[in-house]
Amino acid sequence: MSNDLDMFCYQCSQAANGSGCTITGTCGKQPTIAKLQDNLTYIVRGISAYNHHLNQLGVSDPEIDEFLTNGTYTTLTNVNFDLENLVELALEGGRINLKAMELLKKAHIENYGEPTPETVEVGAKEGPGILVTGHDLKSLEELLKQTEGKGINVYTHSEMLPAHGYPELKKYDHLVGQLGGPWFDQRKIFSDYNVAILANSNCVLIPNDEYKDRIFTSAPAKLPGVIQIKDNNFAPIIEKAIELGSISEEKDKKTLTTGFGASTILDLAGKIKELVEAGKIKRFFLVGGCDSPLKGTQYFREFVEKLPNDTIVLTLACGKYRFNDLDLGNIEGIPRLLDLGQCNDAIVAVDIAVALCGLFDVELNELPLTIVCSWMEQKAVAILWSLLYLGKTDIILGPVLPAWANDDITNYLVENFNLTPAGNPEEDIKRILG
Ligand code: SF4
Ligand code: SF4
Repeated sequence: MSNDLDMFCYQCSQAANGSGCTITGTCGKQPTIAKLQDNLTYIVRGISAYNHHLNQLGVSDPEIDEFLTNGTYTTLTNVNFDLENLVELALEGGRINLKAMELLKKAHIENYGEPTPETVEVGAKEGPGILVTGHDLKSLEELLKQTEGKGINVYTHSEMLPAHGYPELKKYDHLVGQLGGPWFDQRKIFSDYNVAILANSNCVLIPNDEYKDRIFTSAPAKLPGVIQIKDNNFAPIIEKAIELGSISEEKDKKTLTTGFGASTILDLAGKIKELVEAGKIKRFFLVGGCDSPLKGTQYFREFVEKLPNDTIVLTLACGKYRFNDLDLGNIEGIPRLLDLGQCNDAIVAVDIAVALCGLFDVELNELPLTIVCSWMEQKAVAILWSLLYLGKTDIILGPVLPAWANDDITNYLVENFNLTPAGNPEEDIKRILG
């Protein structure tokens, strides 16, 4: 859909010219209402992803389920034309998403332990391999159990990188490292490495012929002509990995560091307070979110590169691959780049921010913390509304503003939250740091 259209809705038989209402609805729906309904469906979808991971770990929550049902029902034809209520529902979605992320973090820690910092090798090791992409830690755990002692190396890709920080996952010696970076390098990476591949959630792409016969999916990921693993029975993928045989060891591997959980960082609270009060840490930046191949995403690397040495960068989700190869050094032993984990670990950033508020006895917006958020898909939309629900102002959003945000919605976000589109990194940093 082009953003030039005032709206686009073809959900009922009254769709204009049998193709879609694009100026105003035959039913009377106005463009801003249509866009807020679209926004609500994206929030619902984002929460659904986290809820699915929760359900995989045996957790369900009636309040989350109720919101998903009500939020979806609200967008049905001729149910809700109330602009204010649709904004309220978006903010409520932000609250529910916080709850989903919080429960998911709790379940991850209960199942796999609290993450601790881990240096991860990026590159191939000699031997047959299985590469896991997606977000689902449960399927990785099951795969690690089923491949134990079989001489198969298991690698992570994209948003699976933070798995290396969890004690109950990194205890497996055959979880050997990472291949590639963000989701959109997958066609090249999956073609380059002759290993079996498991895609256990988004962001997976329709495979090319070079690896179509050695990629497998598990729920909810599905690809045409690709075997879907049922009930975490990974026998077909293990068989394929053995059949493909050994790949060669890569020389000069790089490393990445991940696994900074809330408690690792909050154990340093006293030191952080001391450094802030001494003026040695001027500001914290949370830079991350969903990455995309759009040209504008270069902004995030330039932004981090240009930050002065007295700033700390917290990061999460695949947006980190824009700059996590940079060596930012440390401030008296505190690394300047701290990878908090997957997109759902936005809750870790929230927990840290809340703890820092307590430490400095200030409100959220008084903290020396700026959020610089990249977005690609709908989980990031849910996270954005979570931050807005918390009242966080001055968020920088890029690489483009969401297409569902028409002038009315953008003005609302700017007037109430001072949401700012990503501009020029140098100028943005100058404005923030004064
Ligand atoms: S619900 Fe309204 S806006 Fe949507 S297609 Fe039907 S008449 Fe058009
Ligand atoms: S774009 Fe978002 S959902 Fe996709 S892999 Fe990255 S963080 Fe995950």
